[in-house]
Amino acid sequence: MAISVAIVGSGPAGFYSAEALLKSGANVAIDIIDCLPTPYGLIRSGVAPDHAKTKNVARAYEKIALDERVRFFGNVEIGRDIAVSAMRDLYDVVVLAVGASRDRDLGIPGSELEGVVGVAGFVGWYNGHPDFRDLAPPLDTENVVVIGIGNVAVDVARVLTKTPAEMAGTDIADYASTVIFGSPIRAVHMAGRRGPLEARFTNVELREMGRLEDCAPIVDPKALPKEVTGEHSERDRRLIERNLATLREFVSIEPGKRSKRVHFDFFSNPVEILGNTNVEAVKFERTIVENGRAVGTGKFFEIPCGLVIPAIGYYSQAIEGVPFDERAGRAANKDGFIDDGFYCVGWIKRGPSGVIGSNKPDGTRAAELILESFPRGDKPGRRAFEALLAEKNIRAVSFADWQKIDAAEIANAGPGAPRRKFTRIADMLTVLEEG
Ligand code: NAP
Repeated sequence: MAISVAIVGSGPAGFYSAEALLKSGANVAIDIIDCLPTPYGLIRSGVAPDHAKTKNVARAYEKIALDERVRFFGNVEIGRDIAVSAMRDLYDVVVLAVGASRDRDLGIPGSELEGVVGVAGFVGWYNGHPDFRDLAPPLDTENVVVIGIGNVAVDVARVLTKTPAEMAGTDIADYASTVIFGSPIRAVHMAGRRGPLEARFTNVELREMGRLEDCAPIVDPKALPKEVTGEHSERDRRLIERNLATLREFVSIEPGKRSKRVHFDFFSNPVEILGNTNVEAVKFERTIVENGRAVGTGKFFEIPCGLVIPAIGYYSQAIEGVPFDERAGRAANKDGFIDDGFYCVGWIKRGPSGVIGSNKPDGTRAAELILESFPRGDKPGRRAFEALLAEKNIRAVSFADWQKIDAAEIANAGPGAPRRKFTRIADMLTVLEEG
Protein backbone atom coordinates (compact mmCIF):
# COMPACT_ATOMS: atom_id res chain seq x y z
CA MET A 1 0.00 0.00 0.00
CA ALA A 2 1.05 3.59 -0.56
CA ILE A 3 2.68 5.39 2.33
CA SER A 4 0.04 7.81 3.61
CA VAL A 5 1.46 11.28 4.26
CA ALA A 6 -0.33 14.25 5.77
CA ILE A 7 1.40 17.57 5.27
CA VAL A 8 -0.09 20.17 7.57
CA GLY A 9 0.30 23.61 6.01
CA SER A 10 0.25 24.52 2.33
CA GLY A 11 2.93 27.20 2.19
CA PRO A 12 6.30 26.79 0.48
CA ALA A 13 7.67 24.36 3.08
CA GLY A 14 4.64 22.10 2.71
CA PHE A 15 4.76 22.08 -1.07
CA TYR A 16 8.52 21.51 -1.27
CA SER A 17 8.12 18.52 1.06
CA ALA A 18 5.40 17.12 -1.19
CA GLU A 19 7.57 17.70 -4.25
CA ALA A 20 10.58 15.94 -2.72
CA LEU A 21 8.45 12.94 -1.76
CA LEU A 22 6.89 12.75 -5.22
CA LYS A 23 10.29 12.97 -6.90
CA SER A 24 11.73 10.26 -4.64
CA GLY A 25 9.78 7.68 -6.60
CA ALA A 26 8.37 6.19 -3.37
CA ASN A 27 4.78 5.00 -3.45
CA VAL A 28 3.10 7.87 -1.59
CA ALA A 29 -0.39 9.28 -1.16
CA ILE A 30 -0.02 12.86 0.05
CA ASP A 31 -2.72 14.99 1.64
CA ILE A 32 -1.90 18.66 2.05
CA ILE A 33 -4.09 20.23 4.70
CA ASP A 34 -4.58 23.93 5.42
CA CYS A 35 -6.69 25.82 7.95
CA LEU A 36 -7.72 28.31 5.25
CA PRO A 37 -9.76 27.40 2.17
CA THR A 38 -6.91 28.96 0.16
CA PRO A 39 -3.49 27.33 -0.36
CA TYR A 40 0.06 28.75 -0.46
CA GLY A 41 0.50 30.19 3.05
CA LEU A 42 2.80 33.19 3.10
CA ILE A 43 2.86 33.40 -0.70
CA ARG A 44 -0.72 34.60 -0.45
CA SER A 45 -0.80 36.30 2.92
CA GLY A 46 2.81 37.25 3.67
CA VAL A 47 4.55 38.32 0.46
CA ALA A 48 3.85 42.01 -0.09
CA PRO A 49 1.01 42.70 -2.54
CA ASP A 50 3.30 44.72 -4.82
CA HIS A 51 5.74 41.81 -5.18
CA ALA A 52 3.69 39.95 -7.75
CA LYS A 53 6.70 38.25 -9.33
CA THR A 54 7.56 36.54 -6.06
CA LYS A 55 4.06 35.10 -5.95
CA ASN A 56 4.53 33.43 -9.36
CA VAL A 57 6.16 30.53 -7.54
CA ALA A 58 2.60 29.41 -6.71
CA ARG A 59 2.36 28.10 -10.27
CA ALA A 60 4.93 25.45 -9.43
CA TYR A 61 2.96 24.56 -6.30
CA GLU A 62 -0.20 24.24 -8.37
CA LYS A 63 1.48 21.58 -10.52
CA ILE A 64 2.33 19.64 -7.37
CA ALA A 65 -1.23 19.94 -6.07
CA LEU A 66 -2.55 18.60 -9.38
CA ASP A 67 -0.38 15.47 -9.24
CA GLU A 68 -2.70 12.49 -8.98
CA ARG A 69 -0.95 11.31 -5.82
CA VAL A 70 -1.75 14.58 -4.04
CA ARG A 71 -4.97 15.95 -2.54
CA PHE A 72 -5.60 19.34 -0.96
CA PHE A 73 -7.92 19.72 2.03
CA GLY A 74 -8.46 23.38 2.87
CA ASN A 75 -10.61 24.83 5.65
CA VAL A 76 -9.49 22.14 8.13
CA GLU A 77 -7.49 23.24 11.15
CA ILE A 78 -5.31 20.57 12.67
CA GLY A 79 -5.02 21.17 16.39
CA ARG A 80 -8.55 22.64 16.51
CA ASP A 81 -10.86 20.60 14.23
CA ILE A 82 -8.76 17.46 14.42
CA ALA A 83 -6.06 16.71 16.99
CA VAL A 84 -2.46 16.15 15.96
CA SER A 85 -2.57 12.81 17.78
CA ALA A 86 -5.55 11.74 15.65
CA MET A 87 -3.63 12.64 12.50
CA ARG A 88 -0.70 10.55 13.66
CA ASP A 89 -3.05 7.63 14.21
CA LEU A 90 -4.49 7.98 10.70
CA TYR A 91 -1.32 8.57 8.67
CA ASP A 92 1.99 6.76 8.37
CA VAL A 93 3.72 10.10 8.23
CA VAL A 94 2.72 13.58 9.42
CA VAL A 95 4.80 16.57 8.32
CA LEU A 96 4.16 19.87 10.08
CA ALA A 97 4.63 22.88 7.81
CA VAL A 98 2.59 25.46 9.68
CA GLY A 99 5.13 28.29 9.72
CA ALA A 100 5.29 30.96 12.39
CA SER A 101 2.10 32.96 12.65
CA ARG A 102 2.63 34.91 15.85
CA ASP A 103 4.68 37.98 16.62
CA ARG A 104 7.76 37.83 18.75
CA ASP A 105 7.11 39.79 21.92
CA LEU A 106 8.73 43.23 22.07
CA GLY A 107 8.69 43.00 25.85
CA ILE A 108 9.05 46.68 26.74
CA PRO A 109 6.71 48.83 28.85
CA GLY A 110 3.80 50.20 26.83
CA SER A 111 3.68 47.28 24.37
CA GLU A 112 0.06 46.73 25.37
CA LEU A 113 -1.09 50.25 24.39
CA GLU A 114 -3.68 50.81 21.68
CA GLY A 115 -1.86 51.48 18.47
CA VAL A 116 0.88 48.87 18.92
CA VAL A 117 0.10 46.45 16.12
CA GLY A 118 2.23 43.37 15.59
CA VAL A 119 3.51 42.93 12.07
CA ALA A 120 2.01 39.46 11.59
CA GLY A 121 -1.44 40.99 11.95
CA PHE A 122 -0.58 44.10 9.99
CA VAL A 123 0.77 42.19 6.99
CA GLY A 124 -2.18 39.78 7.22
CA TRP A 125 -4.50 42.79 7.24
CA TYR A 126 -3.23 44.41 4.05
CA ASN A 127 -3.00 41.00 2.40
CA GLY A 128 -6.65 40.18 3.13
CA HIS A 129 -6.07 37.29 5.55
CA PRO A 130 -9.49 36.43 7.05
CA ASP A 131 -8.12 36.42 10.62
CA PHE A 132 -6.92 40.02 10.32
CA ARG A 133 -9.38 41.76 8.01
CA ASP A 134 -10.99 43.49 11.01
CA LEU A 135 -7.74 44.60 12.62
CA ALA A 136 -8.40 48.33 12.06
CA PRO A 137 -4.85 49.63 12.63
CA PRO A 138 -4.97 53.32 13.62
CA LEU A 139 -3.64 54.92 10.45
CA ASP A 140 -5.13 58.33 11.22
CA THR A 141 -1.65 59.50 12.13
CA GLU A 142 1.17 61.38 10.43
CA ASN A 143 3.95 59.32 11.98
CA VAL A 144 4.40 55.56 12.10
CA VAL A 145 7.28 53.80 13.84
CA VAL A 146 8.27 50.39 12.49
CA ILE A 147 10.63 48.60 14.85
CA GLY A 148 13.19 46.39 13.13
CA ILE A 149 15.31 46.69 10.00
CA GLY A 150 14.57 43.41 8.25
CA ASN A 151 12.75 42.73 4.99
CA VAL A 152 9.35 42.62 6.65
CA ALA A 153 9.92 46.12 8.07
CA VAL A 154 10.87 47.30 4.58
CA ASP A 155 7.73 45.70 3.10
CA VAL A 156 5.56 47.55 5.61
CA ALA A 157 7.32 50.89 5.11
CA ARG A 158 6.94 50.56 1.34
CA VAL A 159 3.28 49.54 1.38
CA LEU A 160 2.52 52.47 3.69
CA THR A 161 4.19 55.02 1.41
CA LYS A 162 3.47 53.93 -2.15
CA THR A 163 0.98 55.96 -4.15
CA PRO A 164 -2.36 54.63 -5.46
CA ALA A 165 -0.78 54.49 -8.92
CA GLU A 166 2.14 52.42 -7.61
CA MET A 167 -0.26 50.00 -5.89
CA ALA A 168 -2.78 49.84 -8.73
CA GLY A 169 -1.57 46.57 -10.20
CA THR A 170 -1.48 44.73 -6.87
CA ASP A 171 -3.80 42.48 -4.91
CA ILE A 172 -3.79 44.59 -1.73
CA ALA A 173 -7.12 44.26 0.11
CA ASP A 174 -9.47 47.08 -0.88
CA TYR A 175 -10.27 48.03 2.70
CA ALA A 176 -6.53 48.37 3.41
CA SER A 177 -5.72 50.53 0.39
CA THR A 178 -8.67 52.78 1.19
CA VAL A 179 -7.41 53.36 4.72
CA ILE A 180 -3.76 53.71 3.72
CA PHE A 181 -4.38 56.15 0.86
CA GLY A 182 -6.78 58.15 3.05
CA SER A 183 -4.34 58.37 5.93
CA PRO A 184 -2.33 61.52 6.67
CA ILE A 185 0.96 59.57 6.96
CA ARG A 186 3.97 61.76 6.32
CA ALA A 187 6.77 59.79 7.92
CA VAL A 188 7.60 56.17 8.56
CA HIS A 189 10.51 55.63 10.94
CA MET A 190 12.27 52.29 10.59
CA ALA A 191 14.17 51.87 13.82
CA GLY A 192 17.11 49.48 14.10
CA ARG A 193 18.69 48.77 17.46
CA ARG A 194 21.96 48.13 15.62
CA GLY A 195 23.56 49.82 12.61
CA PRO A 196 23.65 49.55 8.83
CA LEU A 197 26.29 46.80 8.95
CA GLU A 198 23.92 44.63 10.97
CA ALA A 199 20.72 45.45 9.10
CA ARG A 200 18.81 42.36 7.96
CA PHE A 201 17.21 43.74 4.82
CA THR A 202 18.49 42.54 1.48
CA ASN A 203 19.74 44.90 -1.19
CA VAL A 204 17.02 44.51 -3.81
CA GLU A 205 14.42 45.36 -1.17
CA LEU A 206 16.46 48.28 0.17
CA ARG A 207 17.00 49.79 -3.29
CA GLU A 208 13.25 49.89 -3.90
CA MET A 209 13.00 52.44 -1.10
CA GLY A 210 14.98 54.93 -3.19
CA ARG A 211 12.65 54.70 -6.17
CA LEU A 212 9.29 55.53 -4.63
CA GLU A 213 7.18 58.10 -6.42
CA ASP A 214 6.12 60.21 -3.47
CA CYS A 215 8.43 59.12 -0.68
CA ALA A 216 12.09 59.95 -0.04
CA PRO A 217 14.50 57.85 2.05
CA ILE A 218 16.23 59.77 4.82
CA VAL A 219 19.56 58.52 6.13
CA ASP A 220 21.86 60.32 8.54
CA PRO A 221 25.30 60.15 6.88
CA LYS A 222 26.91 60.06 10.33
CA ALA A 223 25.32 56.64 10.86
CA LEU A 224 27.16 55.18 7.87
CA PRO A 225 30.61 53.68 8.49
CA LYS A 226 33.33 54.28 5.90
CA GLU A 227 33.93 50.60 5.42
CA VAL A 228 32.71 47.17 6.44
CA THR A 229 34.30 46.01 9.67
CA GLY A 230 33.90 42.82 11.69
CA GLU A 231 33.98 39.14 10.76
CA HIS A 232 31.83 38.25 7.78
CA SER A 233 31.74 35.57 5.15
CA GLU A 234 32.74 36.79 1.68
CA ARG A 235 29.10 36.65 0.61
CA ASP A 236 27.82 38.60 3.62
CA ARG A 237 30.54 41.18 3.19
CA ARG A 238 29.50 41.79 -0.41
CA LEU A 239 25.85 42.12 0.64
CA ILE A 240 26.70 44.58 3.39
CA GLU A 241 28.88 46.62 1.02
CA ARG A 242 25.99 46.83 -1.42
CA ASN A 243 23.64 47.97 1.31
CA LEU A 244 26.14 50.61 2.44
CA ALA A 245 26.52 51.88 -1.12
CA THR A 246 22.71 52.09 -1.47
CA LEU A 247 22.37 53.94 1.84
CA ARG A 248 25.07 56.39 0.71
CA GLU A 249 23.06 57.01 -2.45
CA PHE A 250 20.02 57.66 -0.28
CA VAL A 251 21.91 60.39 1.57
CA SER A 252 22.27 62.31 -1.67
CA ILE A 253 18.64 61.90 -2.82
CA GLU A 254 16.88 65.26 -2.77
CA PRO A 255 13.32 64.77 -1.44
CA GLY A 256 12.15 67.49 -3.86
CA LYS A 257 8.36 67.50 -4.10
CA ARG A 258 7.92 64.08 -2.52
CA SER A 259 5.52 64.43 0.37
CA LYS A 260 6.50 61.41 2.47
CA ARG A 261 9.67 60.25 4.18
CA VAL A 262 11.01 56.90 5.28
CA HIS A 263 13.63 57.49 7.95
CA PHE A 264 16.30 54.85 8.51
CA ASP A 265 16.88 55.35 12.23
CA PHE A 266 19.90 53.21 13.05
CA PHE A 267 21.37 52.71 16.53
CA SER A 268 17.93 53.25 18.09
CA ASN A 269 16.84 50.70 20.68
CA PRO A 270 13.19 50.99 21.77
CA VAL A 271 12.93 51.06 25.56
CA GLU A 272 9.36 52.20 26.17
CA ILE A 273 6.19 52.97 24.28
CA LEU A 274 4.64 56.12 25.67
CA GLY A 275 0.99 57.09 25.96
CA ASN A 276 -2.02 56.79 28.25
CA THR A 277 -4.35 54.43 26.45
CA ASN A 278 -3.09 55.11 22.94
CA VAL A 279 0.43 55.26 21.64
CA GLU A 280 1.85 58.77 21.59
CA ALA A 281 5.56 58.18 21.09
CA VAL A 282 8.34 55.63 21.29
CA LYS A 283 11.26 56.27 23.62
CA PHE A 284 14.59 55.04 22.31
CA GLU A 285 18.05 54.72 23.73
CA ARG A 286 20.87 55.61 21.38
CA THR A 287 23.20 52.64 20.99
CA ILE A 288 26.65 51.84 19.75
CA VAL A 289 27.54 48.39 18.44
CA GLU A 290 30.31 46.51 20.25
CA ASN A 291 31.30 43.03 19.06
CA GLY A 292 28.10 42.88 17.09
CA ARG A 293 25.88 43.74 20.05
CA ALA A 294 23.83 46.87 20.66
CA VAL A 295 25.04 48.65 23.77
CA GLY A 296 23.11 51.55 25.32
CA THR A 297 24.81 54.94 25.60
CA GLY A 298 22.50 56.36 28.26
CA LYS A 299 21.22 58.95 25.78
CA PHE A 300 17.48 58.84 25.14
CA PHE A 301 15.15 60.42 22.60
CA GLU A 302 11.52 60.11 21.57
CA ILE A 303 9.74 59.81 18.25
CA PRO A 304 6.08 60.89 18.39
CA CYS A 305 3.71 58.59 16.51
CA GLY A 306 0.18 57.19 16.52
CA LEU A 307 1.04 53.69 15.33
CA VAL A 308 3.90 51.36 16.24
CA ILE A 309 4.50 48.22 14.23
CA PRO A 310 7.08 45.91 15.77
CA ALA A 311 8.55 43.92 12.86
CA ILE A 312 11.04 42.02 14.97
CA GLY A 313 10.48 38.48 13.76
CA TYR A 314 7.87 35.78 14.13
CA TYR A 315 7.12 33.01 16.58
CA SER A 316 5.34 29.72 15.94
CA GLN A 317 2.02 28.97 17.56
CA ALA A 318 2.31 26.05 19.99
CA ILE A 319 -0.02 23.21 18.98
CA GLU A 320 -1.29 20.53 21.34
CA GLY A 321 0.49 17.27 20.63
CA VAL A 322 3.62 18.98 19.30
CA PRO A 323 6.62 19.30 21.66
CA PHE A 324 7.52 22.97 21.66
CA ASP A 325 10.76 24.84 22.22
CA GLU A 326 9.42 27.94 23.99
CA ARG A 327 12.67 29.88 23.88
CA ALA A 328 13.22 29.41 20.16
CA GLY A 329 9.50 29.62 19.35
CA ARG A 330 9.40 26.51 17.18
CA ALA A 331 8.74 22.77 17.39
CA ALA A 332 11.31 20.87 19.42
CA ASN A 333 12.99 18.85 16.68
CA LYS A 334 16.28 17.39 15.53
CA ASP A 335 16.93 18.37 11.93
CA GLY A 336 13.19 18.10 11.23
CA PHE A 337 12.57 14.89 13.18
CA ILE A 338 10.04 15.27 16.01
CA ASP A 339 9.09 11.66 16.72
CA ASP A 340 8.60 8.42 14.79
CA GLY A 341 6.51 9.24 11.72
CA PHE A 342 6.36 12.90 12.74
CA TYR A 343 8.45 15.62 11.08
CA CYS A 344 8.57 19.36 10.58
CA VAL A 345 9.80 21.70 7.87
CA GLY A 346 10.13 25.44 7.29
CA TRP A 347 9.74 28.05 10.00
CA ILE A 348 8.16 25.66 12.54
CA LYS A 349 11.38 23.62 12.17
CA ARG A 350 14.10 26.26 12.08
CA GLY A 351 12.53 29.55 13.10
CA PRO A 352 11.48 32.52 11.00
CA SER A 353 14.40 33.19 8.70
CA GLY A 354 15.37 32.78 5.10
CA VAL A 355 13.60 33.29 1.82
CA ILE A 356 11.04 31.14 0.03
CA GLY A 357 13.72 28.97 -1.57
CA SER A 358 15.23 28.21 1.86
CA ASN A 359 12.32 25.83 2.37
CA LYS A 360 13.40 23.60 -0.47
CA PRO A 361 16.28 21.89 1.35
CA ASP A 362 13.92 21.37 4.31
CA GLY A 363 11.55 19.45 2.06
CA THR A 364 14.39 17.39 0.60
CA ARG A 365 15.72 16.59 4.08
CA ALA A 366 12.28 15.63 5.37
CA ALA A 367 11.77 13.27 2.43
CA GLU A 368 15.18 11.67 3.13
CA LEU A 369 14.38 11.18 6.80
CA ILE A 370 10.97 9.78 6.01
CA LEU A 371 12.25 7.26 3.50
CA GLU A 372 15.21 6.27 5.68
CA SER A 373 12.68 5.23 8.34
CA PHE A 374 11.05 2.74 5.94
CA PRO A 375 7.41 3.59 6.68
CA ARG A 376 5.27 0.55 6.00
CA GLY A 377 2.14 2.06 4.53
CA ASP A 378 -0.13 0.29 6.96
CA LYS A 379 -2.24 3.21 8.19
CA PRO A 380 -5.48 4.08 6.42
CA GLY A 381 -4.64 7.71 5.58
CA ARG A 382 -6.98 9.62 3.25
CA ARG A 383 -9.94 7.22 3.42
CA ALA A 384 -10.12 7.45 7.21
CA PHE A 385 -9.39 11.19 7.18
CA GLU A 386 -12.31 11.82 4.84
CA ALA A 387 -14.54 9.67 7.03
CA LEU A 388 -13.49 11.73 10.06
CA LEU A 389 -14.21 15.00 8.23
CA ALA A 390 -17.68 13.71 7.35
CA GLU A 391 -18.28 12.55 10.92
CA LYS A 392 -17.29 15.97 12.25
CA ASN A 393 -19.30 17.74 9.59
CA ILE A 394 -16.30 19.69 8.32
CA ARG A 395 -16.66 21.25 4.88
CA ALA A 396 -13.18 20.67 3.46
CA VAL A 397 -12.17 22.65 0.39
CA SER A 398 -10.61 20.60 -2.41
CA PHE A 399 -8.09 21.89 -4.93
CA ALA A 400 -10.84 22.03 -7.57
CA ASP A 401 -12.85 24.14 -5.10
CA TRP A 402 -9.87 26.44 -4.65
CA GLN A 403 -9.59 26.78 -8.41
CA LYS A 404 -13.18 28.06 -8.43
CA ILE A 405 -12.39 30.55 -5.68
CA ASP A 406 -9.26 31.55 -7.58
CA ALA A 407 -11.21 32.08 -10.82
CA ALA A 408 -13.81 34.18 -8.98
CA GLU A 409 -11.09 36.33 -7.40
CA ILE A 410 -9.48 36.88 -10.78
CA ALA A 411 -12.85 37.71 -12.35
CA ASN A 412 -13.54 40.24 -9.56
CA ALA A 413 -10.19 42.05 -9.98
CA GLY A 414 -10.18 45.82 -10.41
CA PRO A 415 -8.50 47.36 -13.47
CA GLY A 416 -4.86 46.23 -13.75
CA ALA A 417 -5.01 44.14 -10.57
CA PRO A 418 -4.32 40.39 -10.65
CA ARG A 419 -7.24 39.53 -8.35
CA ARG A 420 -9.56 40.84 -5.67
CA LYS A 421 -9.17 38.47 -2.75
CA PHE A 422 -12.07 37.20 -0.73
CA THR A 423 -11.24 38.13 2.82
CA ARG A 424 -14.01 36.21 4.57
CA ILE A 425 -14.09 32.43 4.65
CA ALA A 426 -17.90 32.53 4.37
CA ASP A 427 -17.60 34.44 1.07
CA MET A 428 -15.19 31.83 -0.30
CA LEU A 429 -17.58 29.04 0.62
CA THR A 430 -20.48 30.92 -0.96
CA VAL A 431 -18.64 30.83 -4.30
CA LEU A 432 -18.57 27.05 -4.00
CA GLU A 433 -22.26 26.79 -3.15
CA GLU A 434 -23.14 28.98 -6.11
CA GLY A 435 -21.27 27.08 -8.71
P1 NAP B 1 14.54 39.55 10.51
O1 NAP B 1 15.19 39.55 9.19
O2 NAP B 1 15.03 38.59 11.53
O3 NAP B 1 14.63 41.06 11.09
C1 NAP B 1 14.15 41.34 12.37
C2 NAP B 1 14.60 42.73 12.77
O4 NAP B 1 14.02 43.01 14.04
C3 NAP B 1 16.10 42.89 12.91
O5 NAP B 1 16.46 44.17 12.50
C4 NAP B 1 16.29 42.73 14.44
O6 NAP B 1 17.42 43.38 14.93
C5 NAP B 1 15.06 43.43 14.93
N1 NAP B 1 14.73 43.05 16.30
C6 NAP B 1 14.54 41.79 16.79
N2 NAP B 1 14.21 41.86 18.10
C7 NAP B 1 14.19 43.16 18.42
C8 NAP B 1 13.93 43.87 19.62
N3 NAP B 1 13.60 43.22 20.74
N4 NAP B 1 14.01 45.22 19.61
C9 NAP B 1 14.34 45.88 18.49
N5 NAP B 1 14.61 45.27 17.32
C10 NAP B 1 14.53 43.93 17.29
O7 NAP B 1 12.98 39.24 10.42
P2 NAP B 1 11.84 39.66 9.37
O8 NAP B 1 12.05 41.00 8.81
O9 NAP B 1 10.60 39.33 10.09
O10 NAP B 1 12.04 38.62 8.18
C11 NAP B 1 11.87 37.20 8.39
C12 NAP B 1 12.48 36.46 7.22
O11 NAP B 1 11.66 36.62 6.05
C13 NAP B 1 13.85 36.99 6.83
O12 NAP B 1 14.69 35.93 6.49
C14 NAP B 1 13.56 37.88 5.65
O13 NAP B 1 14.65 38.07 4.77
C15 NAP B 1 12.44 37.09 4.98
N6 NAP B 1 11.66 38.01 4.11
C16 NAP B 1 12.10 38.20 2.86
C17 NAP B 1 11.44 39.09 2.03
C18 NAP B 1 11.98 39.31 0.65
O14 NAP B 1 12.86 38.59 0.21
N7 NAP B 1 11.47 40.31 -0.06
C19 NAP B 1 10.32 39.78 2.47
C20 NAP B 1 9.89 39.58 3.77
C21 NAP B 1 10.57 38.68 4.59
P3 NAP B 1 18.72 42.55 15.35
O15 NAP B 1 19.35 42.17 14.05
O16 NAP B 1 19.51 43.52 16.13
O17 NAP B 1 18.25 41.35 16.13
